[in-house]
Amino acid sequence: MNAAPLTRRILIALIAGLAVGFLIKSASPSQPWLEATLTRGLFELIARWFIAALMMLIVPVVLITLVNGIARMSEPTRLGRIALQTLGLYLATTALAITFALTAAGVVDPGEGRSFDLPAYTPPQPPSVKEVLAGLIPRNPVQAMAEGNMLQIIVFSVFLGLALALARDRAKGLAAWIEELEAVVLKLVELVVFLAPIGVFALMARLGAELGLAAIRPLAAYFFTVLGVLLLHLFLVYPLLLALLARLDPRPFLRKMRTPQLFAFSTASSAATIPVNLKTVEEALGVERRIAGFTVPLGATINMDGTAIMQGVAVVFIGQLYGLEFGLAQFLTVILMATLASIGTAGVPGVGLIMLAMVLAQLGLPAEAIGLIIGIDRLLDMVRTAVNITGDAMVSVVVGRWNGALDESRYEQHTGSESRGSPGDGERDRAEG
Ligand code: ASP
Repeated sequence: MNAAPLTRRILIALIAGLAVGFLIKSASPSQPWLEATLTRGLFELIARWFIAALMMLIVPVVLITLVNGIARMSEPTRLGRIALQTLGLYLATTALAITFALTAAGVVDPGEGRSFDLPAYTPPQPPSVKEVLAGLIPRNPVQAMAEGNMLQIIVFSVFLGLALALARDRAKGLAAWIEELEAVVLKLVELVVFLAPIGVFALMARLGAELGLAAIRPLAAYFFTVLGVLLLHLFLVYPLLLALLARLDPRPFLRKMRTPQLFAFSTASSAATIPVNLKTVEEALGVERRIAGFTVPLGATINMDGTAIMQGVAVVFIGQLYGLEFGLAQFLTVILMATLASIGTAGVPGVGLIMLAMVLAQLGLPAEAIGLIIGIDRLLDMVRTAVNITGDAMVSVVVGRWNGALDESRYEQHTGSESRGSPGDGERDRAEG
């Protein structure tokens, strides 16, 4: 079996896919069949299979790891503390990200002295905070799973795991069965991950053939401000937080996060990245399953630092197009709204723009302005999704550390499951660890 590091194989697939996509795009005026049979035919099919395979994993992985993790907690009462720490960190890091973005955009002034014709854009209706809170408890857990409602699935799994722990003596068989089921589900993740380079190649080839890089030029100031803040957050703020909050060397973290980051980048979906991120946080970074099973899926749903950064820059940019200066009160509104908005929206491609509509409405800015940035949002979406899931992993490591649930030697270990690609290596890593 091919033992080349998975990260490298995915990276090669990503670059090769983009190159093939660009080639097809440039050849398509004279050879239109290339586009019809490849980028809109074969590659499109493989890309859809790949995304579907990742989505297929979410409900079983989240349900089973969470039920099992909570059922095995030695003191289920500690769950409350872990939940509070996780929520606190998720909200705090999002608020920090958006403050950082507002400050950076205030310095760069991406919209100063520019004017654009605004295209028509009707924003979809985002859910209200009250609706999100009211819908936390599923009336029908089967429906929650069928609809992939992550918050409801998490709530149901936590209850089920607690009940299983309480009924322990009478449910020994079931508890053992769920443990076995978890091993099978994680094997399923490994299988899909093993095939990922093919999926990533197809996704990128399709993207390369569609990408209009020329559209970036007039909006370059906005684009590069968002990109710059995203990269600073990724490579400066997270490592600093990890060192300060968990007293850990951030280098193993950054190295091991490359695989899930590539998944997030190519799918632009935190939700689709849950199984891979969970596997990395657990097997490569050494966070115990009882913590990771809770923090990672929750983070994919409510923690979107990268998305918050885009919103911060976009608000300043759009405000400047309309000649508006914001004061402290508006900035605080943006911080609050963007943080809350991330709770109510799922981690799927493009959802950040829906959240932005909510924030703009709160500030009295026209949501039509989103029509201006929608054309170049795709690439930014990919980068910010990588930031979003890195934030989830960072908080998972910190919470793991605070609760004595981080295996430090595994965290620092060089050969982790992040580096090998064949299904079965996870097993070996566990045995080695
Ligand atoms: N695509 C992002 C995610 O899944 C959300 C967004 O910013 O649109 O995390």
